[in-house]
Amino acid sequence: MVGARTMPARAVVLPRRLTERIPVFQRRLLTWYRRHQRKLPWRETRDPYKILVSEVMLQQTQVDRVIPKYREFLTRYPTVRHLAKSKVAELKKVWYPLGYNIRPLRLRNIAKQVVRRHEGRLPGSYDGLIAMDGIGRYTAGAVLSFAFGQDAPILDTNVARLLERFFGTAGRRTRSGPAGKPTGRRERVLWELARQVIPPGDAYTINQGMMDFGATICTARAPKCPTCVLRHACQTYPSLDAGATARASRRRRD
Ligand code: SF4
Repeated sequence: MVGARTMPARAVVLPRRLTERIPVFQRRLLTWYRRHQRKLPWRETRDPYKILVSEVMLQQTQVDRVIPKYREFLTRYPTVRHLAKSKVAELKKVWYPLGYNIRPLRLRNIAKQVVRRHEGRLPGSYDGLIAMDGIGRYTAGAVLSFAFGQDAPILDTNVARLLERFFGTAGRRTRSGPAGKPTGRRERVLWELARQVIPPGDAYTINQGMMDFGATICTARAPKCPTCVLRHACQTYPSLDAGATARASRRRRD
């Protein structure tokens, strides 16, 4: 979309030691994703409403639990207008047992705003999405890249952990376990990295790839470092080799 902003203007300048690692990160991650990507129902659609539903459901909830509920939810509320007209009691029942029950109400509130302000169509610009109550920077990036095919960055906990470890931006903090929610300059560096790792015109693939990689390989507690395709360029390897760490602690106990 001409003139649409795809990220906030305030960014940081990344040092060369980070930017020079971007090509190898992109190449290896995209090769891995082409072979190992998960088949997920929300990857079979570009409908912005369905993408939005999946993104809200996936917050703090595992993929396996979301899949059946995603299908059921869209059968009951197939469009943004159906959701906008929904009754709260029934909506909560359909959402059960996903938990974090503020989420369906937030989704319904977004649906109402979309109907009221945008004639039932989710806007395809960062400014239009972020202006809605209930849509944050991550969700806006996910809708723009997965539904509208725009080069918009995303940064959830999986992506942040992967970027921090690979580029070594968190120093010692990631070595003892999962990275906390990044804030301040650390967060701005990660958003800028998330933006710069996007190959022009292909945010969809790299964003999905980073999410899959963070969820299955570079996990919080048991990263698969010894077989990781990024390990030769990863700034945290081998100090985050969870297998080696576990073996060492077993030896200490023996
Ligand atoms: S080597 Fe380990 S820490 Fe580095 S990206 Fe791979 S899984 Fe993550």
